[in-house]
Amino acid sequence: MQDKILEAEKRLKPILGKRVSIFEAHRMSYGRDWSPRMYGDDNIPEMVAVPRNTEECQEIVKVAYELGIPVIAFAGGTGMGGGVQAWKGGIMVDTKGMDQVIEFDEKNMSVRVGAGITIWHLNEFLAKHGMWLPHQPESKQASTVGAAIGCDNDSTFGIKYGKMLECLTSAKVVIGTGEAIEFGHRKASMTSTGYKLHHLFVGSESTLGIVTEAQLRVNYLPKTRTVMGFYVRTIEDACFACEQLMTSGIQLESLHVNDKQRLHFYTHSYRVKYNREPEVPEWAEAIMFVSVAGDQDVVDFFCTKIRDKVKDIASEVKEQEIVTGYWASKHTLQFEPFKQKWPDSQRERKFGAADVGVPIGNLEKMHDAFVNLSEKYNQKILGMTVYNECPQKISPSISFAIFVDDHDQTNMDNFYKFVKEMSLEAIKLEGTMSTYIGDGDRLGGFNQIEHGESFEYMKKLKSMFDPKNIMNPGKKFESRWIK
Ligand SMILES: Cc1cc2nc3c(=O)[nH]c(=O)nc-3n(C[C@H](O)[C@H](O)[C@H](O)COP(=O)(O)OP(=O)(O)OC[C@H]3O[C@@H](n4cnc5c(N)ncnc54)[C@H](O)[C@@H]3O)c2cc1C
Repeated sequence: MQDKILEAEKRLKPILGKRVSIFEAHRMSYGRDWSPRMYGDDNIPEMVAVPRNTEECQEIVKVAYELGIPVIAFAGGTGMGGGVQAWKGGIMVDTKGMDQVIEFDEKNMSVRVGAGITIWHLNEFLAKHGMWLPHQPESKQASTVGAAIGCDNDSTFGIKYGKMLECLTSAKVVIGTGEAIEFGHRKASMTSTGYKLHHLFVGSESTLGIVTEAQLRVNYLPKTRTVMGFYVRTIEDACFACEQLMTSGIQLESLHVNDKQRLHFYTHSYRVKYNREPEVPEWAEAIMFVSVAGDQDVVDFFCTKIRDKVKDIASEVKEQEIVTGYWASKHTLQFEPFKQKWPDSQRERKFGAADVGVPIGNLEKMHDAFVNLSEKYNQKILGMTVYNECPQKISPSISFAIFVDDHDQTNMDNFYKFVKEMSLEAIKLEGTMSTYIGDGDRLGGFNQIEHGESFEYMKKLKSMFDPKNIMNPGKKFESRWIK
């Protein structure tokens, strides 16, 4: 492989100059993402290349195709499933150089961007025009548009606007041969023609190609927003309350249901910061948060209606600081007293999650499995949060979160055993293994179990876009951690 890498460097230097490198110091920072893995267990790529546009990206993939070198797209490196791990070596394509706003078409509420722009920077640009991209993962300061497409992450506002799939109308992709192809339906919001091939790239984790440009539907920013919190007796009650709210015609902007452990997480933060006890009803086993947004009179009306609708099964959170702390954790990651979302050191207590999804009626059963399996594998529970990601539907995208100690091999091994059993349980409960983290280097081989016969069609599909299997090889089809 080393000879091939030297040859690739020789060919790419005249095109990229210093933006191609085989120096260890440059490569080292691309060795891991935020997925739990042992300290020191990095996968350092053999070369790093930073294209500034589609044409440069094509040159890199063409050379890799000719020489048979793996290529992986890298963005913010905050993925939690190992999507960017260069587990089979190769060239890491840092996409953040492709960060231009190419065209802003206000009248048609559409923007075309280089895929390397962060969602944060895109929204700074759009805000000047009173607009935003409502797909908002908590990691938006680091996460790029291309990665949001590539890993199909979730959004704080999914219940109103959906995820990236709902925003993406077209994308330019450099596929595994080095060809650049536009997939999609320009600026139209939908189509009935052909196949919706651009959808294939949502969640494809750069296994089919590298997205270099995206055409996105954007929205006007709402004028005001109100966030409310409610203590609820059970998770089931919370889901029932949410269904009631939506059936009544209230348009929620965000909706999150948290279990008892997560409730404690928020109230603990309050205690630490304010040094006093919040008023939490003894019976509370769950806490849910909702937000509504729009014109002030509409928001006021919805708030009154929400209070009225849930009054028999929920008690409103009185301490506004708990609501503010929660909202900061969902929206800006400035979560006092921890300064960021996750408490203490990310080193000893790293955030890890089984992000399975099940239909709403099986949520309690999945939660029971979470508690039992965490105990079985001696994992320290952080708690469950149910996000909702389909517009106007209770649509659980779930984070069953625990703290992982990535200095402790046994703890780490047990974490992946926990993820494996949670994944199999979710399939049994008619659900899916992942709702926002993706396959990465953890779940791939298990896709055969989840997808059955269609798994073979996925392989065939990949070979059409990537005939030499150089695009992020291993991901989606093999599991590195879970056997
Ligand atoms: C503090 C924090 C908060 C988080 N909050 C959320 C959250 O609210 N919701 C959520 O879902 N996740 C969340 N995550 C997980 C993660 O940040 C997101 O999934 C994020 O979008 C990953 O983006 P990234 O730019 O860091 O991608 P990376 O980790 O660099 O890449 C992720 C995947 O996308 C692929 N990819 C990258 N760019 C392209 C491209 N141009 N074309 C094709 N494929 C590409 C990569 O190959 C990889 O497989 C959080 C993580 C952290 C650390």
